[in-house]
Amino acid sequence: MNQTKIIATIGPATDSEEALTSLLDAGVDIFRQNFSHGTLEQHAEVFQRIRKICQKKSSHAAIMVDLCGPKIRVDEVEGGSFPIKVGDHLDILAEHVKGTPGRISTNRPALIKEVSEGNRILIDDGSVLTRVVEKHETHLRCICEVGGHIATRKGLNFPDSNLVMSALTEDDKINATWAFTNGADYVAMSFVRSAADLRELRDMMPLNCECPLVAKIETSHAIQHLDGIIEASDVVLVARGDLGVEMDLAQVPILQKDILRRCQLAGKPAITATQMLQSMVNQPTATRAEVSDVANAILDHSDCVMLSAETSVGKFPIESIKMMSRIAKQTETLLKQKGETARVNAASTLRLVTTAVAHSTAMLANELNAKLVVLWTQVGNTARLLSKCRLNRPIVGLSPDQAVCRRMSMFFGVVPVQMERKPRTLDMINDVDTMLLQKNLAEVGDLIVVVAGTRLEQAGSTNALLIHLVSDPQGHSPAFT
Ligand code: PGA
Ligand code: MN
Repeated sequence: MNQTKIIATIGPATDSEEALTSLLDAGVDIFRQNFSHGTLEQHAEVFQRIRKICQKKSSHAAIMVDLCGPKIRVDEVEGGSFPIKVGDHLDILAEHVKGTPGRISTNRPALIKEVSEGNRILIDDGSVLTRVVEKHETHLRCICEVGGHIATRKGLNFPDSNLVMSALTEDDKINATWAFTNGADYVAMSFVRSAADLRELRDMMPLNCECPLVAKIETSHAIQHLDGIIEASDVVLVARGDLGVEMDLAQVPILQKDILRRCQLAGKPAITATQMLQSMVNQPTATRAEVSDVANAILDHSDCVMLSAETSVGKFPIESIKMMSRIAKQTETLLKQKGETARVNAASTLRLVTTAVAHSTAMLANELNAKLVVLWTQVGNTARLLSKCRLNRPIVGLSPDQAVCRRMSMFFGVVPVQMERKPRTLDMINDVDTMLLQKNLAEVGDLIVVVAGTRLEQAGSTNALLIHLVSDPQGHSPAFT
């Protein structure tokens, strides 16, 4: 079992019961539903399908709903696409039209007011570059500097323009409400600009909804307000696709490293995403550069690695998951050999006790070379923090609540197990032993560290560390030597 978690985006290539089952078997921990494509009805159907399969397989795999955000896209183009070459004119109209060579409109026609002469406009993840040369009431006239194809629904980026757009569109609000009321395990917000965007989304949650929010870092604004965003979110996603267009592409690797480093210190899980195994969309194997990229993302403390087109529309979705899994396995071998734990500095957002317990557990487990750590968690905070301490051994996260178990699927090195917690410590330990032996996670005589709270039913009350030798509840108890 790998420590690094794998996210697969579901799309036409993988939304059947059969394909979803194969993805789960190949090692997917989180299914991503990308609301940039498809209707709410289609997503609702797939959501239920995933839940049904996970139930059947007793899997705690989670579902992440990814909101579209204010993505600007090309309106329909006659014949699907047209070529554009350097020096060609392109007019972007202030009214909806069917695109023809040299003339397109977008899903947000009003934006032309906010763009100035000299601003760059990039199309299709930056593969086509145009620049505004004239601004008129009715259209922007652009000139092409890097040619390619312009096709229906391709994305546009305006890295030089300050477009005033809420990160939460009306469609996003409908989809988020659906996600919250249907118990999505994570909701991801696109084009976050600052912590206020996340607060706006959090304010929409119904009472008692604890859905964790994922902040996608993909604008220069987000880079400027990074620490506030990390604090206001539960998970951070390095969205290299749009980030590489909004910022200088050559900056992406150092931005990625910086985001991952800050998430590590803040004790927040981080996802590295987009084009990780891009060539596997069409080919059954990855390039050396892609393999190296995934390995380095793991070495830099990514908790999860994500696949997009590879699994949603690619020809080799299962092979892509298997490749991810192979790379994770090899890379984690090195991490375990090094045996380094990591520190978090989350005291500003969590109770001091929680951070101290996590650090002490890491030290104890390391010093005693524990087989694994067992952890009781109420809402998942201690599991999240302990995971960021990189124990180099499994963390078995226990909760009676299935939703908490699914949430823990996002955490590096955490194996979620659903279990009732008996009030008496001795009974609780007996249950843990039985479970570990049943699941082949440990053997009689293995030293484990158990992390628990003495006050049940209370979040943030984790305050007890137990050093224990796994015993056969029917047999004799081994003794420390
Ligand atoms: P997207 O986000 O796939 O929703 O665009 C990820 C990215 O931009 O990298
Ligand atoms: Mn994006």
